[in-house]
Amino acid sequence: MQPTIIDNYQSLQQQLQDACAQAEHGQTVRLLAVSKTKPISDIQALYQAGQREFGENYVQELVTKATALRHLDLCWHFIGALQSNKTKLVAAHAHWLLSLDNLKIMRRLNQQRPKQMPPLQVCLQINIDAEPQKAGIAATELLSFADEVARQPQLQLRGIMALPNPALDVRRSFERMHQMFQQLQIHYPQCDTLSIGMSRDLQAAIACGSTLVRIGTALFGERSQPPPKPPLEGA
Ligand SMILES: *Cc1c(COP(=O)(O)O)cnc(C)c1O
Repeated sequence: MQPTIIDNYQSLQQQLQDACAQAEHGQTVRLLAVSKTKPISDIQALYQAGQREFGENYVQELVTKATALRHLDLCWHFIGALQSNKTKLVAAHAHWLLSLDNLKIMRRLNQQRPKQMPPLQVCLQINIDAEPQKAGIAATELLSFADEVARQPQLQLRGIMALPNPALDVRRSFERMHQMFQQLQIHYPQCDTLSIGMSRDLQAAIACGSTLVRIGTALFGERSQPPPKPPLEGA
């Protein structure tokens, strides 16, 4: 029989526990269930099994799912590319943004975060392998960017996130992320989130200190159709 999502969830929990037991950094690791393109029924099934944190990378999909499931105590992370005309929706519906890399977007989110909500929890996306076409700030910009985020009252800086180039030595990229994370924590001790690791490389990421792995395929199975590309900004 095909393993169900719940089977996958249980085996992932075991893998996370084993990887943590072996990790020399002694951190605890949270699982972010990346539910992009997957139906609401899958999210409900995982909720029943105890999962609370879910990640989406298209704004409209996040809004639809968060609205449909607003009666559940879910925690929504936006993890995708964010255009300035969509910041208001993220400010109103997300608990976390893992992919901040732009100061204009940052200021809009701070202004648009509803005052009755807690601050939006933010991780900076780092372009750790300096890939020209990839999102994220340069490693050298980390502290100046963190300084800007830390000044925004409706945002709370929690850490850093990256998607390394899988064609390179991912382990080395993860190690550089861990060094940056430690540097960040010297200046901002409230930072507790290093989000590295996806389905194919979660063990290596945890060995390098990850505190939040983002898992789609290993939990929900392959994504059959990619969602439509969002239009380019200004188009
Ligand atoms: C889709 C996605 C993931 C999950 O990837 P899998 O390989 O399916 O586990 C993680 N992070 C981001 C930013 C994503 O867009």
